[in-house]
Amino acid sequence: MAKLTLTDVTKRFNDGGDDIVAVDEASIDIDDGEFIVLVGPSGCGKSTTLRMIAGLESVTEGTISLDGAAINNRKPADRDIAMVFQSYALYPHMTVRENMSFGLEESTDLPDDEIRERVEDAAHMMGIGDLLDRKPGELSGGQQQRVALGRAIVRDPSVFLMDEPLSNLDAKLRAQMRTELQRIQEDLGVTTVYVTHDQTEAMTMGDRVAILNDGKLQQVATPLEAYHEPANQFVASFVGEPSMNFFETEFQDDRLVHDNFEYPLTEDVREKLGDTGHVTLGIRPEDIELVDTVDGDHDFRTVVDVVEPVGSGNNVYLAFEGTEGDTTELDLDESDIEGESRTFVATIGGLRQVEAGQPAIARIPEEAIHLFDSDTGQALRNRSLENAELVEPQV
Ligand code: ATP
Repeated sequence: MAKLTLTDVTKRFNDGGDDIVAVDEASIDIDDGEFIVLVGPSGCGKSTTLRMIAGLESVTEGTISLDGAAINNRKPADRDIAMVFQSYALYPHMTVRENMSFGLEESTDLPDDEIRERVEDAAHMMGIGDLLDRKPGELSGGQQQRVALGRAIVRDPSVFLMDEPLSNLDAKLRAQMRTELQRIQEDLGVTTVYVTHDQTEAMTMGDRVAILNDGKLQQVATPLEAYHEPANQFVASFVGEPSMNFFETEFQDDRLVHDNFEYPLTEDVREKLGDTGHVTLGIRPEDIELVDTVDGDHDFRTVVDVVEPVGSGNNVYLAFEGTEGDTTELDLDESDIEGESRTFVATIGGLRQVEAGQPAIARIPEEAIHLFDSDTGQALRNRSLENAELVEPQV
């Protein structure tokens, strides 16, 4: 077990032309036993970061250390790190048992008995104890992934690195493996860095998530902090499904002025804005309420554009009444509208019936809004969690 630290780690590739900065001064402290998820869109530098930790890619600048000792120049085999790949990377001509024991036979002088015991324990833990004599070609994708994970477990490493290990599995199996992997990681207590582009996976699995964009670390936080207290607009939009709604506004006197609405702010909130002029208002879909009557300055007349039922709830796409998104009055082609989306989305309970074309009143409560500097994207004010409820069963 180990504490893994990245200090100002940069990776530049040079393909003959300009340098590509794949990772730009990333610093993360990963605690002993922690499960951290590196998440971000395609090409943001996740795999490169992982490969530098594994020693498969050199570090251009900065330091990677394990328990305080720099490992930049240590060979991959000497790092005491086990990596699991998306492709499983199993040897096709070897049985499951051979695949799992191969690394130990090559890199340690453990006696055969102990190797056998470790392989059998790991196979049992991964639920593949009865598959030890099969070859990878005789296994399903899910079983092959279990073998790949089992092979990492037998090595009893200080750190696990996992690069999208579940992405070849179908949705149901993926969800099941997520929970299983979390349990195993917790039982083993091995420091783990897990890469995914899937924000749901990141939010459900990580003790903390490290969100990357364009080689730059945007925020390292617990999943709930990233969701409710995003450092910037990128994090706010990346985390959460459906995504947070954003409206570009001008801050004038005591209110935010948008093309389609005005949103007055109380003094407490105004103070957070200082003299910022361009302010982006963000609101999560589940924080928008559909109410019966207009009862204040934060209730807006809208028209339902599309309803997407998702079983437990409905995603209701709304357009401000009388705007280009309100297709009940205007005959506009989608391509006529540029920039910000013409609709915004609210999620409501699955048993509430709403229909396209119907008028609706959307309440955007001030305690739930996020405000960002439109020029820099930095968060100026996040949702208030003062009214968050702690569930305490009465015994
Ligand atoms: P994905 O989710 O698509 O795998 P990623 O977040 O893992 O993406 P990386 O594979 O780390 O992203 O790539 C980061 C950037 O570095 C990309 O712009 C990529 O094109 C570039 N890159 C990666 N490897 C090399 C290489 N060997 N030579 C040149 N550029 C590279």
